[in-house]
Amino acid sequence: MASPGSDVLVDAATAAKAPAPPPAKSVPQRAMEKLGLVRDIDLALHLPLRYEDETKLTPIAEARPGDTVQVEGVVREAKVELRPRRQFIVHLAESLEPGGNAAPGRRRAELVLRFVNFYPSHQKTLAAGARVRVRGELRGGFFGPEMVHPTFKAVDAATPLAAALTPVYPTSAQLPQAYLRKAVASGLVRAPLDELLPARVLPPGLPSLREALGFLHHPPPSASLAALEDHSHPAWQRLKFEELLAQQIAQLQAQRERRKLRAPALHASVGGLHERLLAVLPFQLTRAQRRVAEEIAADLGREQPMHRLLQGDVGSGKTVVAALAAAVAIEAGWQCALMAPTEILAEQHFRKLVQWLDPLLAERGQGIAWLTGSRKGKERRQMVERVASGEAALVVGTHAVIQDDVRFAKLGLAIVDEQHRFGVAQRLELRRKLAGAEGDDGRPGSLEPHLLMMSATPIPRTLAMTYFADLDVSTLDELPPGRSPVVTKVFADNRREDVIARIRDEVEEHARQVYWVCPLVEESENLDLQNATETHQHLSAALPGRMVGLIHGRMPSAEKAAVMSLFSSGDMAVLVATTVIEVGVDVPNASLMVIEHAERFGLSQLHQLRGRVGRGAVASVCVLLYTGPLSQTGKARLKAMVETTDGFEIARRDLEIRGPGEFMGSRQSGDALLRFADLAEDAPLLQRARAAAPELLDRHPAAARAHVTRWLGGKMEYLKA
Ligand code: ADP
Ligand code: MG
Repeated sequence: MASPGSDVLVDAATAAKAPAPPPAKSVPQRAMEKLGLVRDIDLALHLPLRYEDETKLTPIAEARPGDTVQVEGVVREAKVELRPRRQFIVHLAESLEPGGNAAPGRRRAELVLRFVNFYPSHQKTLAAGARVRVRGELRGGFFGPEMVHPTFKAVDAATPLAAALTPVYPTSAQLPQAYLRKAVASGLVRAPLDELLPARVLPPGLPSLREALGFLHHPPPSASLAALEDHSHPAWQRLKFEELLAQQIAQLQAQRERRKLRAPALHASVGGLHERLLAVLPFQLTRAQRRVAEEIAADLGREQPMHRLLQGDVGSGKTVVAALAAAVAIEAGWQCALMAPTEILAEQHFRKLVQWLDPLLAERGQGIAWLTGSRKGKERRQMVERVASGEAALVVGTHAVIQDDVRFAKLGLAIVDEQHRFGVAQRLELRRKLAGAEGDDGRPGSLEPHLLMMSATPIPRTLAMTYFADLDVSTLDELPPGRSPVVTKVFADNRREDVIARIRDEVEEHARQVYWVCPLVEESENLDLQNATETHQHLSAALPGRMVGLIHGRMPSAEKAAVMSLFSSGDMAVLVATTVIEVGVDVPNASLMVIEHAERFGLSQLHQLRGRVGRGAVASVCVLLYTGPLSQTGKARLKAMVETTDGFEIARRDLEIRGPGEFMGSRQSGDALLRFADLAEDAPLLQRARAAAPELLDRHPAAARAHVTRWLGGKMEYLKA
């Protein structure tokens, strides 16, 4: 069965393209797979973005500029004009009533159709005398009302109008709307949509899933477009509830599975490594650090694996908390792995931990191993051996730590820094690796290591409740003493020379150091680099006698490390960087951060970058240079940066500006877990779903499983990451 209205109009853009010859898998088929539209149920759950009303005709004379309308008429004249540019102009006259005539004395209403891109098929269908149905937005043109690039199709006086609103689906460039409409309509017919949920758990007054989907794909002309568009219609409510329920069941299931796992109980002893580390630290822990360290120690002492997120603003001192947790694990006779998303960050951790822990470990005949992608050959083999023998009590590195040739003698604790920066695939790999870690008795998988994740991008509460029901959260809500908050200023790019004068002042008068961050040009790494190189030259010339360095993602890591160490030691005054410095770099003497093209960065990225300064006692400044005109969200981001330095407030605003899907960094990749429900708006539905999930799992386990499969299909793995 074809969707009503699916063939009603010819899309102007696709009208002239001949259908592609059918290969093994056609282009649109592959495009559908990319969108996750594989099973019939996936198609049935692919809901329209909006609708087009092709169920009625508007008389041309009654259409107002700004209205999107469907009209029918007869082509009075059609011609290709060459000025001001080549275009196809069609004069469409209101069609006469069958056998009738326009009212005497009234001019027949006319409309101009304008095509800047057109094909011979346009000229054929829209030839003088042809009767056509046209749909588009009416504009007031110089010669009267016109439509630019309307959709159109040839009709005769008896061609029926669509019986239902025409759905417009989210799609991609390779997947024509008309193709997708047919696929969805037939998926909807074939998909098994029998009721899985007991009536008890459903919010009252909602249609069945089958009814809801039938309605949403093909609403009758009488349906309220407003209720369809703001998703308040009961059919939408049913869909959102189903989606939230699937997500809650999946979370609960993951949590229950994890509770069955066993981990080694790791206890700190009096006078042990943990206390000795505290004694050698050059500072006192903050109250927040002490509290969080205790929460983690309590988890480590249990026989269930810890699954905890430590969130704390940039500079709140997460590293030392991680080191204390590592000390507990090592003292109990287990190994600890610490992973960072970039080599620079891993290196920095390595240095700090070496400084703090190496002397203490040496007394026990143990050491720290260092594993990154750039260490290869003999050096790497030696490191891998030290890990396998257990001599390396602590293993620090990038995700090279979890590569296949790395076997731990006794992994008891894994710590992942800036965990949100690891991709979904890497997080899954980590979980698999941890699940396969060797246990106490040598049987693989019998004991799981504890897992501590750290992040400077706090997860707002509603998100934590829904996406991370299976995660305990500790929060560092206090910065170490003696920091002065960073002052943020926003300047248009034409103030660049003033900013450079300010840099000179910081460097010459106060012997301070400066970061200059260049924008990320996503389309082209070359441009990216060119920009950074030019800025580097310009600043070098402006600061004679001072060392100005350059660091970017494509430099070999040895070179990166060399540049970083010159900057850390204070020899280098200014560091021009692409965003490789984004996370974790710690140089307390740096007091000025300039971010060029700040409008191109996301809010949390800007906040992370700003966190590179204000790490010591000196008053620090962050300058955001922008190039106008600013978009609405660009403005909102820069405003948020000026108004607050609180990472939690930043996260809240980021969520507000971007919405939860993008906040999770997953919307673009099509992995967004919630497609329809909105956590803020649909809080009552979420509450119901949370309450229903345990009941379903306990009393109707088969229905619960079927429901999750229906909704999440191939995304189950993702939920565990
Ligand atoms: P982040 O939470 O961003 O990872 P770091 O662990 O890098 O923060 O800590 C930032 C800086 O603060 C480091 O130089 C660290 O040594 C220092 N620091 C951490 N805790 C304290 C404390 N309690 N008192 C003083 N300085 C501290
Ligand atoms: Mg850090």
